[in-house]
Amino acid sequence: MFDKILIANRGEIALRILRAAKELGIATVAVHSTADADAMHVRLADESVCIGPPPARDSYLNVPSLIAACEITGADAVHPGYGFLSENPHFADVLGEHNITFIGPKAEHIRTMGDKIEAKRTAARLGIPCVPGSEGGITDDTEALRVAADIGYPVLVKAAAGGGGRGMKVARSKDELSEALTVARREAKAAFGDDSVYLEKYLEKPRHIEIQVMGDGRGQAVHLGERDCSLQRRHQKVWEEGPSPALNADARDGIGETVANAMRQIKYLGAGTVEFLYEDGQFYFIEMNTRIQVEHPVTEMITGIDLVNEQIRVAAGAPLSFTQADVKLEGHAIECRINAEHPVTFRPSPGSISYFHPPGGLGVRIDSAIYQGYRIPPNYDSLLGKLIVHGRTRTECLMRLRRALDEVVVDGVETTLPLFRTLVRNQDIQNGDYDIHWLEHFLADGG
Ligand code: ADP
Repeated sequence: MFDKILIANRGEIALRILRAAKELGIATVAVHSTADADAMHVRLADESVCIGPPPARDSYLNVPSLIAACEITGADAVHPGYGFLSENPHFADVLGEHNITFIGPKAEHIRTMGDKIEAKRTAARLGIPCVPGSEGGITDDTEALRVAADIGYPVLVKAAAGGGGRGMKVARSKDELSEALTVARREAKAAFGDDSVYLEKYLEKPRHIEIQVMGDGRGQAVHLGERDCSLQRRHQKVWEEGPSPALNADARDGIGETVANAMRQIKYLGAGTVEFLYEDGQFYFIEMNTRIQVEHPVTEMITGIDLVNEQIRVAAGAPLSFTQADVKLEGHAIECRINAEHPVTFRPSPGSISYFHPPGGLGVRIDSAIYQGYRIPPNYDSLLGKLIVHGRTRTECLMRLRRALDEVVVDGVETTLPLFRTLVRNQDIQNGDYDIHWLEHFLADGG
């Protein structure tokens, strides 16, 4: 096992990793920018190193500074969390060259899944169902017209290097296609420096359902059920739950086994998520994330398995601590991502937390790095924390979420808590009757 883990991240996920490392008896190193000198992850770690000024590219994304921090502290492994360098194969390679373990998948798998065209090709080869679309990248408009006619309108133009929903454009007819191609290429070039795009059938009313996987890197892999992340705003997940209200045991086992089998074939290492759109009983692969995800606690609450602990163990070469038969889904869990944003305009609301009272009680979990007096730096994302609630049934979970949301107090900044208090009381939400467009429509109608 590792002696010392350096946590190349900040905020709630840095705390989450600290907790797992401490429970494994491993020493921890926090890194921070000058804007995060007072952050909770810095206070709670055994050691800390300042790695640069506030902009992420000069600190949390600065590979030479991170390597230097490892050398100074003698860390023998790095956990990247999510975001920042978590899906950067170059970082994984450089760590390897310094004999430091990257707690994550093999660099080749990060690379493959980071290119969405390559990822889709790989998924199809492994027997994972994909959205009908172009075989690979689309270079000219004539080819695009032919493919679109083939799969049928509406079609979606997507950036190969896409992320965060950028570089995506819908075309509802032949006339709209060339414009959509031009705009998507331009956006993709600006956002990712790569203008390759591909075409997909545009699904009108799908749900977003993702499968959590874990592999030992030697051909053992299991799935841990699904999370339904259909409630999104601007392609950002807002509310995640598991199990999905839309799946029965057969559908779950079927897709889970397909995905686990694919991960066994490629000898996947560590945690990963295979994301699907789900419509009319069919699953369509959209992408794979080769990291721990923000919403991983939903799965932890219904399986009782500590995913970050498991990531660390398999990265150190241990076998998986559970088999597929050991994974039992119990009850229901819902996560709300609470942001420091205005609940109606969603404008970021940096500032100081003048008062914080977290909710408690049976089945209530808060993953957050805020504290009373904490000043939120304007340089990073606006996630204040996650409220995750578990109940024996979905109904119990919703009632518990309602009372937990009524308990929590955050003063000093605007938060999205009022939005969740409305959502948890909404009839469609209570019925589990929503698709990936539901929240946008709800917000457009004035909430
Ligand atoms: P990104 O990497 O930018 O997040 P994804 O491929 O994961 O891109 O897609 C993000 C979101 O865009 C999905 O969660 C879904 O809401 C929507 N989307 C993606 N592909 C399709 C499609 N073929 N049809 C309809 N919606 C889609």
